[in-house]
Amino acid sequence: MADKGTLYIVSAPSGAGKTSLVAALVDKLAQLRPSVSHTTRPIRPGEEHGVNYHFTDRDEFVRLVEQGRFLEHAEVFGNLYGTSSDWVKQTLHGGEDVVLEIDWQGASQIRKQMPEAVSIFILPPSLEELAERLRGRDTDDEEVIQRRLNGAQEEMSHYAEFDFLVVNDDFSRALFELEAIVEARRLHIVRQSVRLEPILENLLAGR
Ligand code: GDP
Ligand code: ADP
Ligand code: 5GP
Repeated sequence: MADKGTLYIVSAPSGAGKTSLVAALVDKLAQLRPSVSHTTRPIRPGEEHGVNYHFTDRDEFVRLVEQGRFLEHAEVFGNLYGTSSDWVKQTLHGGEDVVLEIDWQGASQIRKQMPEAVSIFILPPSLEELAERLRGRDTDDEEVIQRRLNGAQEEMSHYAEFDFLVVNDDFSRALFELEAIVEARRLHIVRQSVRLEPILENLLAGR
């Protein structure tokens, strides 16, 4: 059976604002759920188990990989990250949309399995602003920040593999653009002809 929900993939270099934008998007739109990834990265102050991530150790992560529990997984900045397969599939089958915040390697793995997924790449306005945001966030030490800045251009070099490009300069503008992408997708003929079946039947009755 075809999934009733749409899968969105959001990628960006670390610090571009994808977590803030996705949180705001999920707050604003009904029927859009964020997937909570597993990661081996240390928990940051302010983060919660099961909310930001399922924080696991490497042995547990590898066990989950061997059990085929991830839709995709990748190593990013020396830590392992993965998307839970069961939860994503159940949520899509149930008719809700799902958004993944994952790196370009994960996006590429998902596209191969689910070509109907909609992918969005978020760019920072400049490298200087990206560095400022990473430092301003105040969640990582300087060595981690340097590693993330060094990886930013590698991540951004994959922008053309995505369906949509959004620049996160003015936050509310970027949020509006993300909403527009989701709303346009929901208005697509494939979705609308199912959702509007009763109205369409009525409108076209007795011809
Ligand atoms: P932040 O993006 O700066 O908040 O840093 P994080 O440590 O939360 O994420 C680091 C990188 O891991 C980002 O590039 C994410 O896109 C990526 N990432 C997070 N979760 C997943 C996942 O489940 N799968 C994959 N492939 N990448 C992930
Ligand atoms: P990511 O998840 O891509 O690493 P975050 O959502 O954690 O990025 O954002 C990184 C930092 O930049 C946060 O401190 C966030 O508040 C800030 N930020 C996000 N978007 C903007 C924006 N448009 N203008 C200024 N600061 C922003
Ligand atoms: P952070 O550790 O700062 O939360 O995330 C670092 C990077 O890991 C982010 O750029 C994020 O996109 C990526 N990431 C987070 N979760 C996943 C995931 O489940 N899969 C993949 N492939 N990447 C992820």
